[in-house]
Amino acid sequence: MNVVLLGAPGAGKGTQARRLAEHLGLPPISTGDLLRAARSARSSLGQKAEKFMAEGKLVPDDLVIDLIRERLSGKDCLGGYILDGFPRTLRQAEVLDQNLLQNGAKIDRVVNLDVDPTELVKRLSGRRQCRGCGENFHVSFHPPKREGICDRCGGALFQREDDREEVIRKRLEVYQKETKPLVEYYRRKGNLKDVTGTGGLEEVFAAIVQALK
Ligand code: AMP
Repeated sequence: MNVVLLGAPGAGKGTQARRLAEHLGLPPISTGDLLRAARSARSSLGQKAEKFMAEGKLVPDDLVIDLIRERLSGKDCLGGYILDGFPRTLRQAEVLDQNLLQNGAKIDRVVNLDVDPTELVKRLSGRRQCRGCGENFHVSFHPPKREGICDRCGGALFQREDDREEVIRKRLEVYQKETKPLVEYYRRKGNLKDVTGTGGLEEVFAAIVQALK
């Protein structure tokens, strides 16, 4: 099964994608994580992407499309995958559909995680991420048992540089303009389900699992 998780930054896509992937035995694929890895490795793509990411802007389509094309050709994707953070523009969605079609495949389900904008800012500004496993925490809503340490793998927690307030505003603006139109794109195709992303992690997870049935 090929699944896309749609939603604004801070809607919980990363956290839920990892859980869902574990539940379904499919790989979670986050273009944000792939880009951050490329940036840390100082690859040519990472260096090109760095400035856009730091400013909360989208990395140009062609770069992201090449990156995802390569990742989706991995053997672990043969049985399906959970996409988190891709597609983010209409062009990305169209290219993804065309590529899948060439292989006789399609996006089976799109889950749109809906969260109020003021809640998104609160979530993102208090978010802390694990350097080891990528798990997300929140200083108030989901604090780790030991400050600065991941409950899951013991890795160090850090604040993403794009989780600063001025960059958050830009990311939310970019979401409204570039990514939100995808909700209608997939709704028209008939494979989109809306899920309220406000609520406990378990509650939202259960709603996502239900939406995929
Ligand atoms: P994320 O971890 O999904 O919030 O992504 C972090 C940043 O990576 C975004 O703010 C963008 O700069 C970049 N990025 C991630 N996915 C995409 C995408 N599909 N298209 C363009 N830029 C992306």
